[in-house]
Amino acid sequence: MADRSTGVPGDEPPPEPRPAQAGERERAAAGLTSIWETVHRGARDMGIKRGLRALLAVNQKDGYDCPSCAWPDPDGERKTAEFCENGAKAVASEAMTTRADPDFFARHAIADLLRESDLWMDRQGRLTHPMLRHRGATHYQPIAWEDAFALIGRELNGLASADEAAFYTSGRASNEAAFLYGLFARQFGTNNLPDCSNMCHESSGLGLNETIGIGKATVKIEDFSYADSIFVIGQNPGTCHPRMLTELQKAARNGCKIVSVNPLPETGMIRFKNPQEPLSLLGPGTEIACLFLPVRVNGDVALLKGIMKEMLAADRASGGGLLAHDFIAHQTEGFEAMVADLDAESWDRIVADSGVSRELIRQAAGIALGSERMICTWAMGITQHRNGVANVQSIVNFALMRGQIGRRGAGLCPVRGHSNVQGDRTVGIWEKMSDAFLDALGKEFAFQPPRRHGHDTVRTIQAMRQGQVKVFVGLGGNFLSASPDTHVTSEAMARCRLTVQIATKLNRGHLITGEQALLLPCLGRTEIDRQASGEQFVTVEDTTGVVHASRGSLEPVSDQLRSEPAIVAGIAAVALGKRSTVAWQALIDDYDRIREHIEHVVPGFVQYNRRVREPGGFYLPNPAREGAFTTPSKRARFTVHPIPERSLKPGQLLLTTLRSHDQFNTTIYGEDDRYRGIYGGRRVIFLNAQDMEAMGIAQDQPVDLVSHFQGERRRAARFRAVPYAIPRGCAAAYYPETNVLVPVTAVAAGSNQPVSKSIVITLETPETGGDTGRAA
Ligand code: SF4
Repeated sequence: MADRSTGVPGDEPPPEPRPAQAGERERAAAGLTSIWETVHRGARDMGIKRGLRALLAVNQKDGYDCPSCAWPDPDGERKTAEFCENGAKAVASEAMTTRADPDFFARHAIADLLRESDLWMDRQGRLTHPMLRHRGATHYQPIAWEDAFALIGRELNGLASADEAAFYTSGRASNEAAFLYGLFARQFGTNNLPDCSNMCHESSGLGLNETIGIGKATVKIEDFSYADSIFVIGQNPGTCHPRMLTELQKAARNGCKIVSVNPLPETGMIRFKNPQEPLSLLGPGTEIACLFLPVRVNGDVALLKGIMKEMLAADRASGGGLLAHDFIAHQTEGFEAMVADLDAESWDRIVADSGVSRELIRQAAGIALGSERMICTWAMGITQHRNGVANVQSIVNFALMRGQIGRRGAGLCPVRGHSNVQGDRTVGIWEKMSDAFLDALGKEFAFQPPRRHGHDTVRTIQAMRQGQVKVFVGLGGNFLSASPDTHVTSEAMARCRLTVQIATKLNRGHLITGEQALLLPCLGRTEIDRQASGEQFVTVEDTTGVVHASRGSLEPVSDQLRSEPAIVAGIAAVALGKRSTVAWQALIDDYDRIREHIEHVVPGFVQYNRRVREPGGFYLPNPAREGAFTTPSKRARFTVHPIPERSLKPGQLLLTTLRSHDQFNTTIYGEDDRYRGIYGGRRVIFLNAQDMEAMGIAQDQPVDLVSHFQGERRRAARFRAVPYAIPRGCAAAYYPETNVLVPVTAVAAGSNQPVSKSIVITLETPETGGDTGRAA
């Protein structure tokens, strides 16, 4: 049986988690194992015929968008197999033929389901019927769609204020579903629209908007082929966006210098065996990163300051010939203040706090100075810190020094985690959309959208816990497991009068419910969406701002399924009744009508219906990509940020959470992480071998992880200690198991993003509860 995860009351981990490190780390990402995993899982979950059909359509111009990450598809020709192993796992998981039908829910009480692992839940298959948990009931029971909508309508209309409802969106929702959802929430009267972006790239959005005028990537996929260097910072593409390795491989072969900045040396950044190249499968693979900077957890500001300080010194020594002084003078502001700050920073502090030697910092600066065109990419290793916004803006500073934005082969690229998380935000899923958007929405549908800012994810949890939000609707996702502070979040969910989850598959978030709970099954990306005017497609936006169509081709697993737009419209029509100015059913009959409204409301969607039908779709406008900065001063901004204080006490470590290779966000596909040599278990903590020795911890020894924040302690019990190449004073472990350690009030300054990548912990022995000893 799989190890169970902690995270909800009563869900204790097994007394003795099995030893988890049973093998070697794979030396190169992808390769033959990846092909085997794809074939084996596809055949096992979907059958050969359905599996082939599903996989050959994924990421094709006339197919459907991979439901996993937001990495872009090639602009030009596409290969027959345009997906990675993890995309195949996501497709197999969605398109599996096993079903969690009403009989399944009759056999399993909710309390019993809660004791099962996340992996077990995913293996139970697709939801097939709308299900209701009555007040006080032990089981979910079937309910008719119209009755479910009527129940939601009654509960919403019984609230004292529209702000007592919250409408969460996961990044899988299409533009069409998300636009209708935001419209419904605002016609209902609230901006309480928390989303998963609140938890992954909120710091990127804010950090970039303030400095370059747009909160998105400034590169196209083709830019990776022209770059002289690529800095991959706080990111693990081999697991989180595997097809990015194809671009990095092409770049490396072109002579591009790739620098990996991360606390752990990740296999995908070391070597890559491209499954599309049969001959390369037999060799050692392509070397990806030529330089690895083993930064301490949250040492990025210090490291970037060190690199920039070296660049500044070299520029001065050359008489000003190395930095982009013309660009800096005419297109930026704040350079002098940043230079003064760099001059005042001591090398001792930079080296100590970054954990990276002066020599490695020099080498990185040399690569940056030698690059005519440089790209910086990053992910949540940068954003999920108290100083997440400062981290992002330090990367902007680094790029601006040599004018590396707005030119071919150069730019900034925060890589989004879920396939349409960026598009959802573009079309209105945000608790504080601009007045311009709300004006346009109000004009288009002849109503007054509320102007009060709504709750983001963290504030929604707090409001539910305080009884201020009483109805929670989740458009996809696993709110419970994706959120910080799992016990607090479950307590908050349980206080609601009604929780509604729109989903394809069962997950833990469906089992911690309000007094009443609805589970509404929706079509997946892979499935045909039939409406009155015929088969529909939906649209999504990738991490580089390309909007394109996604058209499912498999028969739905149940005739009871409805599309996400249809479910949102069904709820809206019943809940709003005659109050609504929207012809909800007409929009569902033909999704072109939804896109026409998006075109009228959201800038950049001119001729949406025509352009999205062009193979590959179209790029949204991005002034920064063209070298124009839409900040108030029309200049890009250098900013000054102090190196974050490291206030660890003796015995404390800074924990970063991470994914295994058998995982996408909170969905667990298996219990192996072959890139880190972990097999058959997930309750492991990666520690520096010298720290283990200093603390007297042996390999495989069980330890409890205890987090410390403002005098509070949180515990995740019974993890196995694994020695690993990680800087001293740092530790790493998988989420969602460790989300229980992240306090809901520990957030990034400005963006309110949970700080899941820097949690102060100590290790305790499970038997005695005593400290295990002293770390560096
Ligand atoms: S890189 Fe991301 S979007 Fe592409 S196939 Fe893999 S998981 Fe899917």
